Amino acid sequence: MSFLSKLTNSTNELLWPTRCIGCNVPGELLCPNCQESLTWVDQQWACLDCGAPFGWLTCSSCDHSWEELDGVICATSFMGTCAHMVTALKDEHETRLAAIIAAAMATALDEAQGWNHINLAAIDAIMFVPATHKAFVRRGFDHMELVARALSSFIDIPLVDVLVRHEAHDQRKLNKAQRAANLFGTIELINEVCAAHVLLVDDVVTTGSSMRACAKILKVAGVNQVIGCGFSRVW
Ligand SMILES: [Zn+2]
Ligand SMILES: [Zn+2]
Repeated sequence: MSFLSKLTNSTNELLWPTRCIGCNVPGELLCPNCQESLTWVDQQWACLDCGAPFGWLTCSSCDHSWEELDGVICATSFMGTCAHMVTALKDEHETRLAAIIAAAMATALDEAQGWNHINLAAIDAIMFVPATHKAFVRRGFDHMELVARALSSFIDIPLVDVLVRHEAHDQRKLNKAQRAANLFGTIELINEVCAAHVLLVDDVVTTGSSMRACAKILKVAGVNQVIGCGFSRVW
């Protein structure tokens, strides 16, 4: 970091001190109290197929039908501070949250591994559900690339950036069937994939349609196993 950027950062810190995204107390971006009170998913009881909390045996969220994916692990439930973290990263450009979101995902993966729900040693690449070109231009960055990059360094698995996403209508206002149709053909591989076991990351998992569309393409390209990892699960 150059002296100038250090100086700018400390001046910024004086003028606009970092405040906790959860409780607004100055100091850290996510204070220890708010870290503790995130709506963590208990990995022991989470659905192995879609990551929904308490769906281990009978899941009403996916009916165990997300066959494109070989499992999904989600770190948190999408509510409160977790929801705010996602929107602050995406729409308020608080890019420092990418590392915090990645750390939460790494924590969940570690816990899931403790319950034998995943074997991280067998994963050979991390990929991310890409933003559309339009969203990339609007934000100036792909927020999931930032998260995936941070996660890659935390769990020491290489990031492989081969997926692109073409324009589709905004997924947020569509129902399940419309989402799947909307995404059909919008994901493309821009390079050869050498990985056999992929961890595919996304911020929010709702119907799983974005992840499933990416997994479908990856499987066609010869990938054996695609496990999804979301920061937050809507259920
Ligand atoms: Zn706080
Ligand atoms: Zn499920």
